[in-house]
Amino acid sequence: MSERLTPLPMTTIVTTDLIGITRGRSFPTDELEHYQAAGCGWVPANSALTPQDVIAQTNPWGAYGDLRLIPDLASRVTVNNGPDTAAPALDFIHGDIRETDGRPWGACPRTLLRDEIERYRDELGLQVNAAFEHEFNLHAGFAEHLAFSLEAQRQGAEFGGWLLSALRAGGVEPEMFLPEYGKHQYEITCRPTLGVAAADRAVNVREITREIARQMGLDLSFAPKTAADAVCNGVHLHVSLLDLQGQPMLYDAGTSNGLSTLGQHWAAGILHYLPALCAFTAPTPVSYERLQPHHWSASYACLGQQNREAALRICPTVSLGGKSVAAQYNLEFRAMDATASPHLAMAALLIAGRLGIQQRLALNAITDEIPDSLNTEQRKDRGIVALPASLAQALDCLRRSTDLNQALPSALLDTYFALKTEELALTEQLSPADLCEHYARLY
Ligand code: GLU
Ligand code: MG
Repeated sequence: MSERLTPLPMTTIVTTDLIGITRGRSFPTDELEHYQAAGCGWVPANSALTPQDVIAQTNPWGAYGDLRLIPDLASRVTVNNGPDTAAPALDFIHGDIRETDGRPWGACPRTLLRDEIERYRDELGLQVNAAFEHEFNLHAGFAEHLAFSLEAQRQGAEFGGWLLSALRAGGVEPEMFLPEYGKHQYEITCRPTLGVAAADRAVNVREITREIARQMGLDLSFAPKTAADAVCNGVHLHVSLLDLQGQPMLYDAGTSNGLSTLGQHWAAGILHYLPALCAFTAPTPVSYERLQPHHWSASYACLGQQNREAALRICPTVSLGGKSVAAQYNLEFRAMDATASPHLAMAALLIAGRLGIQQRLALNAITDEIPDSLNTEQRKDRGIVALPASLAQALDCLRRSTDLNQALPSALLDTYFALKTEELALTEQLSPADLCEHYARLY
């Protein structure tokens, strides 16, 4: 008599694509060695998928071509168990998309980020240390709770406890699980890490958070705005730059706001290219329901000291307990949401910052006031420009930004414009309220 069957443990090689969706293929875990060197098959046109789950008609790939998804073993995430004791282990490995002969593939966002991190090392002598904060809505039939309350914390406590445990098991180094300002809105933060792993970690946070919600039968969304009257969900990217010996480079105790000359050029680059960057960091029509004044998100390209209405914020540092200010000093990019690909958005942001350093751009767009409360003349004097009001405007800014276009592989740009054009057409009839509802289901 043959043995009774049990489900085979599976491992998945994943890629998180241009629209921030994690996809991949699975194999029996005990065959991992077989997939290590040459990975598994992948299809070019997959990269032209819109969030609406249709492949953009005019994409560069069509039905043609084959690729490989090569696992990066150091990025493996394993979470053996969670609240549902019957659920199989979550086990995935981030992969890079390559040609079948091993050459890098031009439209792979993880490869783009890796190349940019290498440029920071080789051209600027810098390492990038970064962390993504995520806000989300968790609907569990909870009673209404008040903002930031212990009541809200207790309603989410079972979920939060499992989440922290699973994140820790997955190597994410979680920091805080906290109730946010909105109804049923929570936030999860984690410690920074170097290089490509920071964007991998953002994916791990999203996927592990979704896994716990799935296992508990809870409805969860990271979408930037889930209802017309909802408080928005942001993704805030904290970045610090270190030299190759690990010394912090953004801080200079001798300047009024602590930002070093290098940091000023870097911030100036991000602000200069920000209207075009929005096409990557706020990449869906619903992103522009969030990027509005007085939402604590961002609606103008400016830097502010501890200013939550600024697109780029100098974060608070704590000198209590003898902590080093330089080691904590970091800039927070706030014009981002979870409809963005962490790898693509981080790469685009780093490209803009590098151009700022290499072009020695001057930093003028600074304000500690609400930028929307300044008059047009004051904003003009400081070079503070409004962010795009729609995805279509952001894509136009990107089309016109020769520098960014030259810094990005044409295969990736062509695919991106094709799928975003299709996405705009697929959603053009939706009212703002319908857009919120639509994307709440997709992200
Ligand atoms: N929910 C705000 C956003 O959409 C951020 C609030 C905060 O500063 O935590 O980005
Ligand atoms: Mg928050």
